[in-house]
Amino acid sequence: MPSVYEKYQLKPVINASGRMTILGVSTPEQEVVDAVNFGLGHYFEVKDLIDKTGAYLAGLLDVEDAVVVSCASAGIAQSVAAVIVRGDPYRLEQLHAHAHHVPSEIVLPKGHNVNFGAPVGTMVNLGGGKVVEAGYANECSAAQLAAAINPNTAAILYIKSHHCVQKSILSVAEAAEVAKAHGLPLIVDAAAEEDLRLYYNLGADLVIYSGAKAIEGPTSGLVLGKRQYVEWVKQQANGIGRAMKVGKEGILGLTHAIERYLAKEKESGAAMVAKMTPFIERLNQLPGVSAKVVWDSAGRDIARTDIAFDHQQIGMTTVQVVARLQQGTPAIYCRGYKANEGHIEIDVRSVTLPQFDQIHAAIAHLVQENN
Ligand SMILES: *Cc1c(COP(=O)(O)O)cnc(C)c1O
Repeated sequence: MPSVYEKYQLKPVINASGRMTILGVSTPEQEVVDAVNFGLGHYFEVKDLIDKTGAYLAGLLDVEDAVVVSCASAGIAQSVAAVIVRGDPYRLEQLHAHAHHVPSEIVLPKGHNVNFGAPVGTMVNLGGGKVVEAGYANECSAAQLAAAINPNTAAILYIKSHHCVQKSILSVAEAAEVAKAHGLPLIVDAAAEEDLRLYYNLGADLVIYSGAKAIEGPTSGLVLGKRQYVEWVKQQANGIGRAMKVGKEGILGLTHAIERYLAKEKESGAAMVAKMTPFIERLNQLPGVSAKVVWDSAGRDIARTDIAFDHQQIGMTTVQVVARLQQGTPAIYCRGYKANEGHIEIDVRSVTLPQFDQIHAAIAHLVQENN
């Protein structure tokens, strides 16, 4: 059998950018692939499968209940729908048919109204909600969050992500206090986060994770939380959830991936530093290039290689460097969020030792081209 890359003439990729949807997110280990295969090869009573795997995960995570969904975005949409529909059978089936005279506003800090590859607001709208921004682009206190709440508020949404403004924004615990004081549920989108218990323990009613990011499962998502709210999320399978159906393979694959993830020794930030140190030393020998270790801006235990370019010396901008690396063969994808400031970052978690050589060679080739 020819390789899939040859058969479809696909470009090989080095993923030095982290868990990115545009590159296929992650490559689950064999045990997880086996669980996916088992799912594909058998029939189940699907409701039974959803309920029992959810209960199993809830036991592992010490939370009231959980449900596997098709992705974190679907988790946001279905969580929003859940807090608007609240189990009403008519609203479940007629969510978008006309306005319902029930609370449907979803309050979130303005600095959390981000685009993670698709806008958070689009997922809120899919769930029948209307976004209400609290505070300002650069700040949102507990008082500013509370000020945006009114009788039409259905829930507070908190996005825990490096995509968000980090400074002068209230914490999850503070958001939970505001929610509690107003008798509202708190939904936390923790799609790319690593701690599967933290936000629940801080008082969130629903917490959403992406299955293929930190957990390294198949394409899927996890919603966990308080029993009643998770039950309402599950009911969305007969509403908007049907348009974002998760298959038996995804349910079994993610459930096994979570069990593995919890048992596995996690690669520490310190181990990442050790792995990247020789690479940094070699990069620093290139003209116009300076490399160093940086830590994740969202506070996770992830170290990355920061590379700064001297535009004068290398004869091109960092934005051009990012584009040129992507256009090469193999295509090299770095984190380019700060390219406009003259920096790129290398996320080393998925990078193998031979790939470090390839990345070094590609950068050396580019910066020496004009010398
Ligand atoms: C990745 C991400 C999502 C979407 O996750 P999917 O599983 O790809 O739908 C949502 N929110 C944040 C903050 C993310 O980082």
